[in-house]
Amino acid sequence: MPARSSADTASGTSVLPGAVLALRGKGVARGYAIGRAVVMGAAALEVAHYRIAPGDVAAESARLVEALRVAREDLQHLADGLPADAPRELGALLHVHGLLLADPELVEQTLALIAQRHYNAEWALTTQGQILGEQFAAMEDEYLRERGSDVRQVIERVLNVLSGSPALLPLASSPDGDEPLVVVAHDISPADMIRLRGGRFSAFVTDLGGATSHTAIVARSMGLPAIVALGNARMLVRDGDMLIVDGETGALVVNPSPAVLAEYRARRQAYARERAELELLRDEPAVTLDGIAITLNANIELPDEAPLARNSGAQGIGLFRSEFLFMGRQELPDEEEQYQAYASVVRVMDGRPVTIRTLDAGADKALDGEATVATNPALGQRAIRYCLARPEMFRTQLRAILRASAHGPVKLLLPMVAHLHEVHAARAALDLARAELDARGQAYAHDIPLGAMVEVPAIAIAIEPFAQELDFLSIGTNDLIQYTLAIDRADEAVAHLYDPCHPAVLRLVADTIAACRAAGKGVSVCGEMAGDVSFTRLLLGLGLRSFSMHPSQILAVKQEVLRADTTRLAPWAQQVIASDDPAAMLAEG
Ligand code: PEP
Ligand code: MG
Repeated sequence: MPARSSADTASGTSVLPGAVLALRGKGVARGYAIGRAVVMGAAALEVAHYRIAPGDVAAESARLVEALRVAREDLQHLADGLPADAPRELGALLHVHGLLLADPELVEQTLALIAQRHYNAEWALTTQGQILGEQFAAMEDEYLRERGSDVRQVIERVLNVLSGSPALLPLASSPDGDEPLVVVAHDISPADMIRLRGGRFSAFVTDLGGATSHTAIVARSMGLPAIVALGNARMLVRDGDMLIVDGETGALVVNPSPAVLAEYRARRQAYARERAELELLRDEPAVTLDGIAITLNANIELPDEAPLARNSGAQGIGLFRSEFLFMGRQELPDEEEQYQAYASVVRVMDGRPVTIRTLDAGADKALDGEATVATNPALGQRAIRYCLARPEMFRTQLRAILRASAHGPVKLLLPMVAHLHEVHAARAALDLARAELDARGQAYAHDIPLGAMVEVPAIAIAIEPFAQELDFLSIGTNDLIQYTLAIDRADEAVAHLYDPCHPAVLRLVADTIAACRAAGKGVSVCGEMAGDVSFTRLLLGLGLRSFSMHPSQILAVKQEVLRADTTRLAPWAQQVIASDDPAAMLAEG
């Protein structure tokens, strides 16, 4: 671990008066959190999962055995080098870890996973680690329960040997007590974040990531403040450090003084008050000053977020990212499980439309066990491309969605469409799915609208045939920006170039809205731009009448709608679109 001092001068690092250390990243989910750091080991989160060929079992097993040997040797080396005055517990701990590395429950079961399931060594090890971790967590005795963290730490050690990388920080056990915890990670996948839901975690901070990375989106959907692109927080923050997470400015304050802590407690309170004031708008209809009714829908990732969406005043679900049902698990959800999930959302929304997007897997939303060899996964077999390449899986999802439509209004949304033939192929799959349900005598709505995401520049540039062919379009600004500007939305090295105000992006959005309106087709924005109040007036001025966003943003956007007059905004919006510097015009208002 690098030495830390208040004289740290690393970029993005500064010393605030009264704080030991302050790091600056990108605040991507609003609000403030104050809690203790839990530093996540990276190796367990970043481990590669793939199946080996049957003929490679012996070599893969040997690789594991060798990594275990090296890890044991490292521990012995550490134990031998302990200074005479080191705490006795430290030597004992190293000894325990050495024993764990030779434990048959770990070694033999991991080798069995390689031999029987053909998992690669890393995958087998993390799988067996999870099984052991769950066994320890279920133990009555507190001391034994604690040993689960030792297993995690030794597995982390072996994973590091397997990857050839130097020892990383150990995956720490949670500090005791009921204090809120802040996850500090190099990077954390959406699937891992979902697993942390409902615990004591009050914020996420990561070294990597951009504002519209799925990590950021999931943090917002969990209602937790988050900072990404911190650079090297995981190396600088220690387990148990007191942290202030400022999701507004992207500042992470480490071990603040009592004065800074008091200041942030006050800010947290003021933020809560502001939220309470917005609450008063919950039952107000979203109508502009000139009497135009605006639809404000919610984005959700999992069915259990539907009640939150409904209570937030959303008029419907504008985007259900169905891929989150498929992530963080080995087996794909079958038709019945998917049907139950979709139908539960439809029932909660009680007559309000639910737009279900078909599986948008690939890129940074890889499914477990699906290794990709693509150099540029965002340009690879993602979303509709992924589904059309797996017709059985796609039809299983379509049947489940169709069956859910028997319980209330459902719309079907195809992600990442770039070609008309993709729409035709999806329609053919839908017809087949309907025929299969007819043969089974199962009910579904016959008039389910079909729409596509506008997130590849090609479809925005040549939008007319899509507007003719489809029932509605939904602009995914997150990917539209990524693909228009050639900026990987999850890569913090280029995060500063990710610019929603780029004239090219705004013109594509404007043209799409205009073409859909001209064709008499519904159009909405469901990317992060829809929930960003700094764009509400512009989008209204461009003619947008339907927005879909994270539920927590609905009231703030409604406040903007209530103050807007579209007759005045329309000519101004055209000037913004024609401008070389739209950001400056937006800032002026
Ligand atoms: C988008 O790209 O704007 C979008 C809404 O889809 P996702 O963020 O899930 O890729
Ligand atoms: Mg997208």
